[in-house]
Amino acid sequence: MTNDWNSASESARAAARAAADAARNDVELLARIPSISADPARVPDVERSAEATVALLEAHGLEQVRIERIRGALPYVIGAWLHAGPEAPTVLLYAHHDVQPPGRLDRWTTDPFSPTERDGRLYGRGTADDKAGAVAHAHAVGAWLATAGELPCNVRVLIEGEEEIGSPSLERFLREHLDDLRSDVFVLADAGQWDVGVPGITYSLRGLASCDVRLRALDGPLHSGITGGAVPDPVQAMARLIASMSDDRGVVTIEGFADDVVAPSAAEREAIVALGGERGFARAYGLRPGVEIIGDDSVPVYERLWRQPALTVIGFDSHPITGSSNQIVAECTARLSFRLAPGQDPTAVMEAVTAHVERHRPWGLECDVEAFEGAPAWSTDPTGPAFDACRRALRVGFGVEPVAMGIGGSIPFVGPFAAAFGGIPALLIGPEDPYSRPHGEDESLHLGDFANLIASEVQLLAELAAVGGRA
Ligand SMILES: [Zn+2]
Repeated sequence: MTNDWNSASESARAAARAAADAARNDVELLARIPSISADPARVPDVERSAEATVALLEAHGLEQVRIERIRGALPYVIGAWLHAGPEAPTVLLYAHHDVQPPGRLDRWTTDPFSPTERDGRLYGRGTADDKAGAVAHAHAVGAWLATAGELPCNVRVLIEGEEEIGSPSLERFLREHLDDLRSDVFVLADAGQWDVGVPGITYSLRGLASCDVRLRALDGPLHSGITGGAVPDPVQAMARLIASMSDDRGVVTIEGFADDVVAPSAAEREAIVALGGERGFARAYGLRPGVEIIGDDSVPVYERLWRQPALTVIGFDSHPITGSSNQIVAECTARLSFRLAPGQDPTAVMEAVTAHVERHRPWGLECDVEAFEGAPAWSTDPTGPAFDACRRALRVGFGVEPVAMGIGGSIPFVGPFAAAFGGIPALLIGPEDPYSRPHGEDESLHLGDFANLIASEVQLLAELAAVGGRA
């Protein structure tokens, strides 16, 4: 570091580590609130979670902390600390306080909304995604103010309440609050580590496109004994249709679907290859013994996950097994979710999917495709002063060299957000790791790495100050 923040940062990091139990308590407090943005019945909980987030930010010295609302959106929480002077950069710290639904309650070892520690991990919905992100921001700021009495940078904080439903209002919120959010660097604590103990900086995210495909053969169900064998079964038609969308390795083969995919550069591919292959991958993600890794074998597994498209059937409606009888159902619906590679346009993708369904629907069944709003992939060149600052900060916080990595998931607003402020660098870090199971059952936060993350964020503010306004 080339400025005067070196020893102050050391004190602030020590204070942050001394407050590790308090940070964990703050995560527990937030994680007890079932702020499920996808569930209209949970709106009061999302409101409570926003209020708890306000209290958290205020307790750590942020100013002008308040709930901001725009029409039709769940509550945002913003705050700021802007006394570092006009020469210092302004850093926007982002996290979200809403969570995914808990899923199947019987698959949770302990109640999803009663955070519980086991083997150094804190289990509970939202512990990692992303309540720990909000707490990390608060504690990084608090550690500086408690020790130095000031921050090396100007800081703005934005904690969103509807990230888990795709941030439908974030671009509008941004337009209406441009001056509250204007910054030189964007730090998102909604990603995470390459592995336990090994920090990550995320530089690419896949895009997203999804739709419901409905196949209909009949006006109402028919007796399968009297008509089966002559009248087509919409469920089997759907199985054939979905199977026609990929090859034996699960690679999507829809005509025109992957035409615009931009392959990684030679340098990027080299970096991905250097991360290693499938070893450890199956274990990290809990594949049952004997289950194969799918995709194009000629492509490294992490390139498949980060830079190639994929299809997942995320919902399927036919007759449930309970109450089923010998009937041919009238219709069947599947919800298809496509992860998109860089270069793919969500609208063009859906046109290709719709044309494929028209062409390949079996046996003349009526079909209907309802497309939902999508988002393109995002990737950035993980070099330059801000990324170097982030790399140094993570090295200090974790004591290990960070890994530049991709994530197969999507955070649709990262691109538009960075663009709104003239293409500012977006630094994606966070509390998750390959064992965190965000969105799954038994979601958890690694408490040791959580403390390392907070220490890294403390250091990051000093590193970004050293870079100056041109970060
Ligand atoms: Zn998240």
